[in-house]
Amino acid sequence: MSRLKVLLLGGTAEASALAERIAEDERFEGTLSLAGVTRSPRASPLAMRTGGFGGADGLAAWLWQHDIDALIDATHPFAAAMSANAAAAAAAASVPAIALLRPAWQEQPGDRWIRVPDMPSAAAALGIAARTVFLTIGRKDLVPFRAAPQHRYIVRSVDPPPPDLLPEGAIFIAARGPFALEDEERLLREYRIETVVTKNSGGTATAAKLAAARRAGLPVVMVERPPVAGPTVPTVEEAWQWLVARHREAAPARRGV
Ligand code: NAP
Repeated sequence: MSRLKVLLLGGTAEASALAERIAEDERFEGTLSLAGVTRSPRASPLAMRTGGFGGADGLAAWLWQHDIDALIDATHPFAAAMSANAAAAAAAASVPAIALLRPAWQEQPGDRWIRVPDMPSAAAALGIAARTVFLTIGRKDLVPFRAAPQHRYIVRSVDPPPPDLLPEGAIFIAARGPFALEDEERLLREYRIETVVTKNSGGTATAAKLAAARRAGLPVVMVERPPVAGPTVPTVEEAWQWLVARHREAAPARRGV
């Protein structure tokens, strides 16, 4: 029986875990797609392709040209453009598709969250009085904070942001999770952080900063997720089961039954 051809849109730990499972199972032939924004991406056991497809139309054409049978969007919960393109392209190319979307973080007793819909609102929520702010939002979304230069910013991301994106006078820390609670608590103390700003990415790798802020009694400006089009599953296991079901469905057709 021929193999089910899968396109996996990655850039997350869940995508890497799913890539391992696909690579180990001969029912599937997978390709992992990365945006190409991280300087040193983790190695993958799957064939890899890198860079944009050229919008939803480009992705639909790619699916068709490569005879893809199933699409899994395992991009980051804040990769809204790619997820919208994936849903539209899958519909246009009639390819079964699902988004693997890890559950959002939930506020816990002792948390002091200020929920905001987007990054400009997060910058505004810091207020007028000068504060020391820990920005753990990646490197793409820093521009709104340049409009609030009264604050002292500590910026942490995997790769350094271009200097013209960094708020004036910001201190940059290069680091890739997972982060331990004691290290996060030390960082908050060392830089005398007064407010943490984060996206509601969910997952365990970067959740320790929330527990550290809770223990220190610090407010967290929490940027809520963008909406997703199309069906979603919350775990790697459920994405895997979805894929196995697609293989089961496709098997008779592939045998010419
Ligand atoms: P985005 O704004 O939704 O995507 C911008 C464009 O980048 C897309 O329209 C697409 O270009 C291309 N692209 C994004 N992901 C791609 C993929 N997996 N394969 C091929 N092309 C891709 O995405 P983003 O927020 O810049 O994120 C880029 C990558 O970093 C994603 O793979 C995401 O999983 C990962 N990431 C994002 C965050 C975050 O906070 N946003 C955090 C951690 C990891 P075309 O339209 O030309 O196809």
